[in-house]
Amino acid sequence: MKKQIIFILIFLLIFQLNIFAYSSGRINIEGINITINPSLSSSKVETLFKNDYITILDSSNGFYKIKAPSGRTGWLDSYFVNVDPPKYFINTCGANANLRMSPTTNSKIIGQVKDGEKVKYIDTFHSWYIVDYKGMEAFVASWLGDVVSDGSHNVLFLDEVINIRNSPSLNSEIIGQGYKYQDYKYFGEEYGWFKLGLENGIYGYAAGWLMSLNNNFYIDNILSFKTTTDNLRLRSGPSLDDDIITVMQKGTEVRVIAEKDNWNKVVTWDGYVGYSHNDFLKDVLPLTGKKIVLNPGHGGKDPGAISSTGKQEKNVNLTVALMVRDILNELGAEVIMTRDSDIYINRVDRAKLADRLGADIMFSIHHNSLNNSNYFGMSTYYDTKGNKNGKESSKLAESVYDSVVGINSIYRDGIYDRNFEVLRSTNVPAALIEIGFMSNIWEEKNIHNHSFQQEVSRQIAFGILDYFKQN
Ligand SMILES: [Zn+2]
Repeated sequence: MKKQIIFILIFLLIFQLNIFAYSSGRINIEGINITINPSLSSSKVETLFKNDYITILDSSNGFYKIKAPSGRTGWLDSYFVNVDPPKYFINTCGANANLRMSPTTNSKIIGQVKDGEKVKYIDTFHSWYIVDYKGMEAFVASWLGDVVSDGSHNVLFLDEVINIRNSPSLNSEIIGQGYKYQDYKYFGEEYGWFKLGLENGIYGYAAGWLMSLNNNFYIDNILSFKTTTDNLRLRSGPSLDDDIITVMQKGTEVRVIAEKDNWNKVVTWDGYVGYSHNDFLKDVLPLTGKKIVLNPGHGGKDPGAISSTGKQEKNVNLTVALMVRDILNELGAEVIMTRDSDIYINRVDRAKLADRLGADIMFSIHHNSLNNSNYFGMSTYYDTKGNKNGKESSKLAESVYDSVVGINSIYRDGIYDRNFEVLRSTNVPAALIEIGFMSNIWEEKNIHNHSFQQEVSRQIAFGILDYFKQN
């Protein structure tokens, strides 16, 4: 069921659909149906998944008509779409910036952007910006300029009392504070920070991972997970007079996204949205019975990557892994750590532990490093050569990637099939994340920030949940 589209193909598809006349956006929930008409009780066209790139064609009554990656069109509740603000790449490098066929400095040059000029920005991949050049997609190196917007799109704070600073860095001066659900005009992003329009024409910066691009707070607002206690009708509104969308079998799990007067607005894992009365739903921990091995990379005599400020990868891997453990525990999973302190264990022993315990999955947490400090971004890995559960492993890598990349300030670096020792030496479904680059000055700062780590941990856990529910 789940999409298996190579990243570049997505962009070829987008180009063919000629999105540039319309708004684009991304699906913010795993498994959501699009329907023939703008109504919850309308027939299903197909199911979309978290992070699917869509084009918005029309809107009506809180629904968007969208074009899916498959090319099919349908309607869905606008709550489940994060609409992209208009974004542009502006060349600030002081010379012409080359536009290339692919994200490497030795690929073919197909055009140029003059200093100070801008082109439409589509996305970021592998530390390169993908831009629209004469209706084609082209790559420009991110270090040659900035991503800017025109202030027409509002963004919102997701948490209480967030500092607004005078430049995009955690150690710059605080010039104001933002409060939960307060909105500001969006003028672009630098180093994972949003540039906001303040009063009197002044700009300020706030951490992107604490902000939402839209006023649909779905990602922060799964209220609970419940099961139906009996064959239960899912209705198009919060009353017994509303249309029946589907009948759920006893034990069907749902996600509750809103609750009012004992009626829950729920999403089933097969993508239906509707209302059910509280009397027929029961709280559940969605990962009950799942055994998960979490592996913080390196440890002891093996520090992993070392940043320019002397921070060691083994420590931040452990910090994040312990946060992920706590969230998975809250979701009902049994979590076994390969290490929960600063000790050395070889990779094969870690992998074999997962086999020995009969774990459902093994997940490894790392931070990246390169001898080129320009590079940033998040990537996930799986192995299909040694690991007998390669197919499942790739689904796990994809689910976590699609969840984590939804964080504003996390940029795409891809999902890769790699013959890593810790992945190939186990036969349980296994994946590994490289959260960001310790060798990049700004990403390294974000990586070590507590609120950033919390958000990443939450999305890793939700990605793991998505994996189990789509299988
Ligand atoms: Zn590592």
